Amino acid sequence: MNNLQVRCIKMTVILGGGISGLSAAYYALENPRISSMVLLEASNRVGGWICSNKSPNGAIFEQGPRTVRPRGPGGKNTLELIDRLKLTEKLIPIVSSHPAARNRLIYAENKLHLLPNNLKSLFVKNSPFDRPLISILMNDIKAPRISKEDESIYSFVERRLGKDVADNLISPMICGICAGDAKQISVNFLMPSLFEAEQKHGSIAKGLLMNRVNQMFATKTKVIEVSGSGTAEMARKNKWAIWGLKDGLEQLPRTLADNLKSRGLDIRLGNRCERLTFKPGYVELTINGETDKYSRIVSSIAAKNLAQLVRRQHPQLARELEAIPTVTVAVVNIQFSGNVLPMQAFGFLVPPKENLPILGVIFDSCVFPHETDTVLTVMMGGAWFEKNFGECPSKDEILRVAVESAKKILGIKESPVAHKVTILRDCIPQHVVGHKQRLNRIHNYISAHGLPLALCGSSYQGVGLNDVILSAKHAVSDIS
Ligand SMILES: Cc1cc2nc3c(=O)[nH]c(=O)nc-3n(C[C@H](O)[C@H](O)[C@H](O)COP(=O)(O)OP(=O)(O)OC[C@H]3O[C@@H](n4cnc5c(N)ncnc54)[C@H](O)[C@@H]3O)c2cc1C
Repeated sequence: MNNLQVRCIKMTVILGGGISGLSAAYYALENPRISSMVLLEASNRVGGWICSNKSPNGAIFEQGPRTVRPRGPGGKNTLELIDRLKLTEKLIPIVSSHPAARNRLIYAENKLHLLPNNLKSLFVKNSPFDRPLISILMNDIKAPRISKEDESIYSFVERRLGKDVADNLISPMICGICAGDAKQISVNFLMPSLFEAEQKHGSIAKGLLMNRVNQMFATKTKVIEVSGSGTAEMARKNKWAIWGLKDGLEQLPRTLADNLKSRGLDIRLGNRCERLTFKPGYVELTINGETDKYSRIVSSIAAKNLAQLVRRQHPQLARELEAIPTVTVAVVNIQFSGNVLPMQAFGFLVPPKENLPILGVIFDSCVFPHETDTVLTVMMGGAWFEKNFGECPSKDEILRVAVESAKKILGIKESPVAHKVTILRDCIPQHVVGHKQRLNRIHNYISAHGLPLALCGSSYQGVGLNDVILSAKHAVSDIS
């Protein structure tokens, strides 16, 4: 073994330079048990699905994520990272009274419906539901408890709140969260508090009430916990609903990469790992036909991709990893001259039962105004990509469908002045029924076989940016 090989064998390797791989490297630099490290990224850029482009007239066209929630442990953690990276001044907060936070629309039965956003909606009929919210609550209180390990979000909501809520609210919401089919996504994973509410207390309403009571008693401790944490605390006090970054979200991975490089991290672009082989005391990576040895690996790549790397040596692990499916999303950014929108809102979602070829439209220029122009993003495909567009649709066809749908639904007469079409293959993992149990089996396998492998990224603990950054923090803090 030569000197270089001996040095590498003491090194940790991080696989993937998306936001979770970069975050893993950032937190690993704080772990004294990790002495040296390298990050390998297959493509020629960092950021993964986070990609902010500029239109010819200067509007930001986000290809992937654009807004982040400030709430919860994950939201607070991301804002702490923003503070540490000195990106605070770039933040664009959207407070809860802003139209982009209050107004969320559903397009059903040929019209746009504003989702209930005030107390009055408890007692009056709210289209697209033909009953007031209070009647939906009564549904839940009366519905019997059924003990289950897991089920789809659709069937849970249909059972407890009614088919109209499952079809017109939850199904489009799941399209908005993960471009997925609510009939496949796990309720125990995505909405564990609602699921546990039924399992422990017999109904969602009773369970949430009990949680609220418990929280009231725990308030004192919570205030102490969050006070003094900079922007996260400011976001809580000022009731931020979401936030974005001036000039686009891609600044986050870029700044993170610059920070890591300035602290000596070796980020190797164009390094696609082709195989992983675990040997006693080290792991061997095959990259561009050459092999390197490392003491341990933190994988931030999609589970499906990791499955291919380990299949030969660990077929059972590969089977579990590849059972976490992904969906493809077509993203079409369009810009119109002037304000062409019927109202200020975050955007609208389309329930799958409408059988339309789009998942929804985000009104980017309401969230982050760009001069007087209107900027929209049409999301298409997801769980229905192949059904709606076949295996290999042309970008022209995708653009035609996106522009026609947006113009028809929003009553726009003008033609776009700029556009960008991107097809993001296998971009969002789907946490389908049984996901929690699958994660347990994966972790049990890794520990039973003593593999020096830690996992993070959107395949495991959630697809939001907050989830993946937190998953990276946990993955490296667990390394001893
Ligand atoms: C269209 C879209 C909209 C979204 N909107 C939001 C939003 O508004 N808010 C929000 O919170 N979240 C949103 N998300 C989710 C969020 O963007 C992702 O979950 C997150 O960016 C995933 O980051 P990651 O680092 O885990 O994975 P990735 O971004 O996939 O990064 C993985 C990296 O690993 C590299 N790689 C893969 N295989 C190998 C290999 N063999 N060797 C070396 N490198 C490899 C890839 O090139 C990639 O750079 C959205 C996602 C999409 C697709």
